Amino acid sequence: MSERSERTAAYWCQYAWLADPTDGRSAVLADGVLVGISGDRIATIERGVAAPPAGAVRLDGVSVPGFANAHSHAFHRALRGRTHGRRGTFWTWRDQMYGLAATLDPDTYEALATAAYAEMALAGYTAVGEFHYLHHQPGGRPYDDANEMGRRLLTAAARAGVRITLLDACYLAGGIGEPVDAVQQRFSDGSAERWLGRVGALSTELDGGSDDAGRAQCGVAIHSVRAVEPAAMATVARFAAERNMALHAHVSEQPAENEACLDAYGVTPVGLLHRHGILGDRFTAVHATHLTTDDIDVLAATRSRCCICPTTERDLGDGIGPTAELRRTGGLCIGSDSHAVVDPFEETRAVELDERLRAGRRGVHDPGALLDAATRSGYAALGWDGGAVAVGGLADVVTVGLDSPRLAGADLDEAAGAIVFGASAADVRHVVVGGELVVSDGAHRTIDVAAELDRTVRRAWTLVQR
Ligand SMILES: [Zn+2]
Repeated sequence: MSERSERTAAYWCQYAWLADPTDGRSAVLADGVLVGISGDRIATIERGVAAPPAGAVRLDGVSVPGFANAHSHAFHRALRGRTHGRRGTFWTWRDQMYGLAATLDPDTYEALATAAYAEMALAGYTAVGEFHYLHHQPGGRPYDDANEMGRRLLTAAARAGVRITLLDACYLAGGIGEPVDAVQQRFSDGSAERWLGRVGALSTELDGGSDDAGRAQCGVAIHSVRAVEPAAMATVARFAAERNMALHAHVSEQPAENEACLDAYGVTPVGLLHRHGILGDRFTAVHATHLTTDDIDVLAATRSRCCICPTTERDLGDGIGPTAELRRTGGLCIGSDSHAVVDPFEETRAVELDERLRAGRRGVHDPGALLDAATRSGYAALGWDGGAVAVGGLADVVTVGLDSPRLAGADLDEAAGAIVFGASAADVRHVVVGGELVVSDGAHRTIDVAAELDRTVRRAWTLVQR
C-alpha cells in the first residue's frame, strides 16, 4: 500500500459548502463541519461539531470545493505587467507572446510554470488544465526526451502542489493550409502520427503510476481548426476515446478563425469538429465566443463542455460568448488562459457580469450554478471526479476568509452570491489539495510566490530579443 493511501488527516471548517448527496450538484452551507481525510480523498463529513477536536486543522471562514483552472498556458504569465497596457488586437498580442515562446528552454519553462502554478494555488485553484504546445527546441528538433517540456510542467505542478491535467496539444499548421512559421516549428511534431507516438508514450507512463502523488494525468488537445487539419483531428480524437481522456480545443475565439474555416471547409469550426466526430461529453470547447445558433445546438446535443476565459477574452478584445445559451451544453467551466488575471472569483463572476452587459438584465446565472461551473464542472472537464466537498471525493478544499473588507458584512444565507461576487483571490486563506495543506494563512507553504514570479519573469525577458 502506498504512503498516499495510508495518510489520514482531519480539518475542521467553520463553515463548509457541502454537496447535496441526493443530486451531487446543488450544495448547502453548513457550520462546524469536521472533514476526515484518508489518502487523497474525503472519508467522513460530520456536521454540527462546535469546535475543532484535538489534532484537527482549523479552517476559519467558508470552505468551498477547490477551483479548476480548465485552461492555462503557464508561460503566458510572463506577459502580465508588460504587454497589457498596449494597443492592438489578439494578433498583435500573439506576436509578443511568440517572442517569449521562441526563447524558453526546459529550465526557464519549468521555473515560470512553477511560479505561475504557485500563484494559482494561492488564488484557490487546486487543479489546472495545461494546454501545452511548446514541445520542441527552437527550429522544431525534439529534445533528447521528446516529452522533456511536458515533464517539466508536471514537475512544476507537483512543486506548486496543484493537480494537473497535461493537455498535450497537436499543432501542425500555421493557418489552414499553411506551413508553421519559424516560432511555430517548436509547437509542431510534423505529423499527427509523430504527435501520437510522443503523447502515447507519456500517457502510458502516467497511467502506470509514475506520478506518486496521483495528482497528474494526461489529456489531449487539438490546438484549433487553424493549426490541425481534419484527418489529424480525427487521429487525436480516436486516441482520446481509446484512452478515455479529456479532449480540448480552442474554438471560435476570433471571427477571423470562423471566416477562414468557412472559406476552407464551408462550415464553422464547431461544424467542422462535429463533422469529424470530435465533439462529445469528454470534449471541451475553449472560448466558444463567436457561435451560431446551430453551433450551440450541436454543442448541446453532443453534451460538449465550454470553457469560458473571461479575463483573457476581455484583455484581448475577443468578445463576449453566449453563456446563457451555452447552459444547454454539457456544462460551463472557467480558465485563466493567458493569466492576465489569476483569480477564480473574478473569472467566475465575469461569466454572469458579462452576460448582464450583453442581455441588459441581472441574474442569468445563479451563484450556486456559477460556483458549480468553476469547481465540479471544471474538474470533470479535466478528467477528475472532484470539485465537491463530499464523502468519497478528492480532498481539494479552499477556505475563503470572512474577515477582509471585501466580505465584511456578508449575509451567509446568501453565501454563494457573497463569495462569487464579493471575494477575491486575496481572501483565500487555506488551500488543501489531495488532503495536504498547500496554502496556510494566505501563504504558500513551500514557495515565496511573489519572489519566484519576479525572478522567473525577469529572467525570461532577459532572453527575448527586442
Ligand atoms: Zn488558450
